[in-house]
Amino acid sequence: MQTLKNSQIMDNEIKQLIVSDEKVAHVQLENPLDHALLILIKSGYTAIPVLDKSYRVQGQISKAHILDSILGIERIEMERLHDYKVKDVMSPKVPRMHKDETFGKALMLSINHPFVCIEDHDHSFVGILTRRSILALIHRHFEK
Ligand code: AMP
Repeated sequence: MQTLKNSQIMDNEIKQLIVSDEKVAHVQLENPLDHALLILIKSGYTAIPVLDKSYRVQGQISKAHILDSILGIERIEMERLHDYKVKDVMSPKVPRMHKDETFGKALMLSINHPFVCIEDHDHSFVGILTRRSILALIHRHFEK
């Protein structure tokens, strides 16, 4: 029986699976929170990468991070969206991989994370790997 462990798929490169940076919705550390909320709502994603001015990954921000930060005792205080920047509420924890690493690592990281940030040799942001693309590859592999 074909198993994932002894399958060549685990040593595959991930390059062909990467959603390239120009197609990835992202925000920057210094962006105001209302801008981040707009990008999240318009893109339809729950969480997106946060980059710095040098295009390096610094973390991720989600709708939940933003809503938590403006949650008052009795209501959501929308006016506070202007008081914060992305860097004030984001999470610095985001899984990352080098673009030359293998599918096996991406698969392992995707167990706990819906997307993995992919970096170049100089640590600049190249794009993301999504759970969807990882599962699609496994599906194609076992369909053969
Ligand atoms: P998926 O596996 O396609 O459901 O994507 C998993 C997660 O990756 C989404 O919930 C988003 O947080 C993130 N994501 C997927 N595609 C994009 C994109 N084009 N821009 C920003 N984030 C994305």
